[in-house]
Amino acid sequence: MSGLPPYSTYRTDPKQMQYPQQLSHGNILTFTPPGFKQTLNVKFPDCRLAVCERCKKNYKTRDMCRVRNSHTSEPWTTAYIAFTLDDNCTDDDGKYVDKPFAVRMIQWQPYCVKAPFDSKTPVCSACKKTNRTRSFCRERHKHRQLPWCTVYVLLSPADTIDPSTKVAPEGIPIESSSSVKTEVKDEEKTENVDLVVPEEEKSTKETDEKDAQIPKVSRGDGDDINDIAESRTFLAKVSCKESSIHWLEMADFDM
Ligand SMILES: [Zn+2]
Ligand SMILES: [Zn+2]
Repeated sequence: MSGLPPYSTYRTDPKQMQYPQQLSHGNILTFTPPGFKQTLNVKFPDCRLAVCERCKKNYKTRDMCRVRNSHTSEPWTTAYIAFTLDDNCTDDDGKYVDKPFAVRMIQWQPYCVKAPFDSKTPVCSACKKTNRTRSFCRERHKHRQLPWCTVYVLLSPADTIDPSTKVAPEGIPIESSSSVKTEVKDEEKTENVDLVVPEEEKSTKETDEKDAQIPKVSRGDGDDINDIAESRTFLAKVSCKESSIHWLEMADFDM
């Protein structure tokens, strides 16, 4: 995986939906997956990222929102992103490590969700090719393959990748802004003479403040980032209303 080419080299047949292209400027989605302590920047293939909530209300096109105005907030409708953790995203004990991450696109992979999708989920790639409906794919046949529009990406600590393959800014820790504020408050306290805050109380207070930093997008009933599955890959469902993550498994080939 270390020899991953930059995005612009993924020039394949534009009719093949599994291998989308990303040549345009913009098309970056900025969001914090549940359980992450950083906001990720995900570069989307051209014309794949739906408009933001505000642009939806104002009837703006994807090109206006995502390319010309470089809006990066969550889309009004759900985006599906399959994230694979590379070897450097876990420590020697196999535990997830939250460091500033870089996100780069990889090719389609035959992953499945563990529990069937709901009936509103877009059809899988096979059903898209044969023009099947959502009810055929998700209800009648309970296909657990990912929606055809899923974007497949590799998550790597930003300091471990070749900078020339970077396509979007690296993740930004969400504590950074609040810790600055906390420092200022601590200074004020020392000036207020003998107001000694017990260590325990102080730390719970800081945790509360950090929790308050977590964006207003609600967490769906998804999985925990720390319960890493064998596939090392999870599906993130992201919209302005809800975001959740779901660990995946490799598909059975006898479908
Ligand atoms: Zn917008
Ligand atoms: Zn299907």
